[in-house]
Amino acid sequence: MKLTNRAKQIDNSPMTVAERLYIPAIATGLGITIKHFFKKKATINYPEEQRPFSSIFRGLHVLKRDEQGRERCTACGLCAVACPAEAISMTAAERKPGEEKLYREEKYAAVYEINMLRCIFCGLCEEACPKAAIFLQPDKIAPAFVDREQVIFGKDRLVEKMDDRATTGIQKYTGVKS
Ligand code: SF4
Ligand code: SF4
Repeated sequence: MKLTNRAKQIDNSPMTVAERLYIPAIATGLGITIKHFFKKKATINYPEEQRPFSSIFRGLHVLKRDEQGRERCTACGLCAVACPAEAISMTAAERKPGEEKLYREEKYAAVYEINMLRCIFCGLCEEACPKAAIFLQPDKIAPAFVDREQVIFGKDRLVEKMDDRATTGIQKYTGVKS
C-alpha cells in the first residue's frame, strides 16, 4: 500500500560512465549553488545592518518613573511572585519625609534586582505589576555579558534616567507619556 506520493522506485540498473564519474550529481549540485546566487540572502551584515524588531519583541526591562519623575515601583513584590524563573528580588523600604519627590508612594524598592541569567523575557512581571512600573522595552536588547557579576541588574541599570525616558508601555495603560 502506498502511504505517500514521495515513495520512489529503487533503480538497481548498472550505473552509466557519467554516473560513475558523478557528473549528473555534480551538475545538480552546481545548479543548486547557481540558483542561490540569484536568491535574496538570508543573512545580513550585522551590526552594520539591523533588522527591525518584531512588534511583539520583549527586550530589556525598565523601571518607569511617573510624570513627575518619581519611581513608580512600590515594592509590592507581585512581579517577583509572577516570575516563573524567580529572577526578581527586592528589598522594600519606607519613604522618609523629604523623599516625596523621589518615590511616588510611602513604600518603595530600596533594592530591586533582576538576574538576567534566569530571565526568559516572558513579560509576566510587566503583566503582574499593578503600578505600571516595570516594562519590557520593545526596542532594547539586554546587553551581552562575559562575567557572572554583570548579570544582576540593579536599580542603577533598570530605573529610567530622567534625561533618557523610555518611551514604552506606560501610555498603553494610562495615556500619559511618561
Ligand atoms: S520577563 Fe519573565 S522571567 Fe524575566 S523577570 Fe519578568 S517575569 Fe521573570
Ligand atoms: S515593579 Fe510593580 S509589581 Fe514589581 S514590586 Fe514594583 S510595583 Fe510591585
